[in-house]
Amino acid sequence: MKLLLDATRCQGYGLCQEHAPDLVELDEWGYARIVAVTVPPGEEETARACAASCPNDALRTER
Ligand code: SF4
Repeated sequence: MKLLLDATRCQGYGLCQEHAPDLVELDEWGYARIVAVTVPPGEEETARACAASCPNDALRTER
């Protein structure tokens, strides 16, 4: 599974990082940056929750 970010949609709410601190980090302005594009085994549910948490649909998972 991959966790993908459309940076043009990110508004820096930071909710994604709260859900998945091991998969996403925030830059100095609060915008998301994917730490692990390829989701580690066992983290799939976390990645889905992370993507679902974004109010701007900036994140998605892909098989
Ligand atoms: S929740 Fe969405 S808008 Fe907010 S920082 Fe994460 S990707 Fe960006």
